[in-house]
Amino acid sequence: MLNIGCHLSSSKGFMAMGEEAVSIGANTFQFFTRNPRGGAAKAVNERDAADFIKFAEKNNFAKIIAHAPYTMNPCSADPKIREFTRDTMADDLNRMEYVPKNYYNFHPGSHVKQGEDIGIAYIAEMLNAIIKPEQTTIVLLETMSGKGTEIGGNFSHLRNIIDRVELNHKLGVCLDTCHIWDGGYNIIDNLDDTLEEFDRIIGIDRLKAVHLNDSKNILASHKDRHEKIGQGNIGLDALAKVINHPSLKKLPFILETPNELDGYAEEIKILRGLYQEDTIDK
Ligand code: FE
Ligand code: FE
Ligand code: ZN
Repeated sequence: MLNIGCHLSSSKGFMAMGEEAVSIGANTFQFFTRNPRGGAAKAVNERDAADFIKFAEKNNFAKIIAHAPYTMNPCSADPKIREFTRDTMADDLNRMEYVPKNYYNFHPGSHVKQGEDIGIAYIAEMLNAIIKPEQTTIVLLETMSGKGTEIGGNFSHLRNIIDRVELNHKLGVCLDTCHIWDGGYNIIDNLDDTLEEFDRIIGIDRLKAVHLNDSKNILASHKDRHEKIGQGNIGLDALAKVINHPSLKKLPFILETPNELDGYAEEIKILRGLYQEDTIDK
């Protein structure tokens, strides 16, 4: 079965998101852990989290993804911003243990004028400060488009971060199709090569989730503007190959396309229709 869902509003809690996901044909979802501006998060409702765990099991949910506020910058030049990012993400990771064994995704950040090496060192320093041996959540580094001074615009950046993190068995990668396309990886013509490169540099076992987005931009534009599935420059054929690729097809796919719920439901329906079930290994 294709594991697919979309980004949902987290304001009403886990059960509300689970039910909303089921209502649009999804069996996973992504949510922001708090307001993207990084304000205080509401206390986790333990009962809601426990109910969701049962609900997810009953409804064959794949792992869900919490997304850190995208305004955080783990490699800012300002120590106050780095500290705030670290404390916010540490708090998020504590909260994620109420729904154990899921994913926490974040943007590596922008090094601004400090250079890649310093940026990467700050990101690793933060991860070393917040990842605990007992946590069950896997922290995902998102592949980025390389806009401005973003870290994560190529696979080597992510490898370099992983190499510097002590408990890096708690680290994985989330591949965003719009971001890597905008970053210069031609997944229309060279999907196999791109994934082979990912495997060579990072190791395919690190790949835990996919953000499935079309792109408003051309290859290597380094911009990052998502488009609805099939309406952008990547196109439906290439995205159908992504969901069916042997290295990817068991992963959770999250739509971050510019849609309301009904639009997501339609995209999920189309993609489920294009998914080829494995008959052999069942
Ligand atoms: Fe993201
Ligand atoms: Fe994304
Ligand atoms: Zn994006």
